[in-house]
Amino acid sequence: MFLLGVHRGAGKGRYLVRIARATTGHWTVGRLGAFLTGLLVVLLAAACTPGRDSGTTIAWREVPTPTTAPTVAPDPTAGPEATAAAGATTVAVPLGADDLLRIQPNELGRIPVLMYHAFTSDPAKVDEWTVTFDTFGEHLTWLYEHDFYLTPLMDLINNEISVPPGKHPVVLTFDDSTSWQFRLLPNEDGVLEPDPNTALGMIEAFAARHPDFGRTALFAVVPTACFHYLSEEATCEQRLAWLSNNGYEVANHTWTHENLHTVSDDQFRQEIGQTKIWIDERVRGESNLGNVLVLPFGAWPQSDAQADMLYNGFVHEGQDILITGVVEVGSGPGHSPSSGNWTRMSILRINTEEREWEKWTTQFTSGSLTFYVSDGDPATVTIPNQLADDLVDEWDPEWASAYGMEVIRYDLPEALADPTLGRGVLPNVGRSFRRLPPARSGWPGSR
Ligand SMILES: [Zn+2]
Repeated sequence: MFLLGVHRGAGKGRYLVRIARATTGHWTVGRLGAFLTGLLVVLLAAACTPGRDSGTTIAWREVPTPTTAPTVAPDPTAGPEATAAAGATTVAVPLGADDLLRIQPNELGRIPVLMYHAFTSDPAKVDEWTVTFDTFGEHLTWLYEHDFYLTPLMDLINNEISVPPGKHPVVLTFDDSTSWQFRLLPNEDGVLEPDPNTALGMIEAFAARHPDFGRTALFAVVPTACFHYLSEEATCEQRLAWLSNNGYEVANHTWTHENLHTVSDDQFRQEIGQTKIWIDERVRGESNLGNVLVLPFGAWPQSDAQADMLYNGFVHEGQDILITGVVEVGSGPGHSPSSGNWTRMSILRINTEEREWEKWTTQFTSGSLTFYVSDGDPATVTIPNQLADDLVDEWDPEWASAYGMEVIRYDLPEALADPTLGRGVLPNVGRSFRRLPPARSGWPGSR
């Protein structure tokens, strides 16, 4: 459903206010960016009507298009109604006309899912699967300085991307549960805390210094080598509990890091099913991605029977196992979940060794690939009417609205300035979109 067409100079803009349930993980008003606060206060005074979802209220109101940036400071005249609402619930406010033109959200753009394995302090030990801790720190800094925001993988799978307006989602993933990635050490009181000299410790420190960077990552865990891959005594259970309690994700990387290309059906069920059950026993709530399979070696099963188990589920030890996402090895910046090319059964990743890092960051800085820019509201999909060449093939109107979210379209400034560029024109690709399963034999990279 296309709800909103915003044009500069139309005299009035139309704004949609959504007051979402507190449990949906939207940031609070304070984190939303103060520039929206003034706008919010105005709009909360509007009459509200019940929305589609229980606990969700949607208000419409015609308001003048702002000609200057909204006020930064909270409006001191805000009534108790607004104050109570802000305190009691989390709020996401779709953008006004000027905000759209300033931020130019594009939720059809690419999303990098970065893949890390081993870490070292010794530059001589760097290889395709190993980066130095210093390099990892530089990666975090680069991402932050280019307005990326750490995002849970599950938010992509659910197409519920909760990222502040203007920011680009990025997912950090760590394979093989090594102790370079995450270690717990006792503090002075004997309480276990993340070792600052690990990847997770570095994320924690960076997030503490930069609260507007987000704070999460995904760990693809191998139960038989749970954070003691090469070294010291394991504190597997404690580490999983810590991840579970602190908003990090734990995904299924098989029981023994088996190459699924050539296993028996029994092995296949054991490798994936046993790991899923094991994660269920240790990881709670939204941290539990036991049903998201990170393929060891990026290898797909070659048998049709096993591919069928991946797509349609299977039973292991009396439990139904249904895989809801499959994560690949390195490739390139992945598709938006609103793209017709997206499939949760083939989530692309980027390896983070030097050349691959250089390649994708250059695609970003040069604009040769268009990246996702958030509108700030997980409940809407905002896409400009004018699409860069690399996004034309990503656009599928049926798929963009397939999650039941409002699709908001707007004209880019250059189209508003030059009518010959064609306003309000999104190509209707008119093809069957490609959410097909990957090839059932061989490596999906070949498809
Ligand atoms: Zn692995």
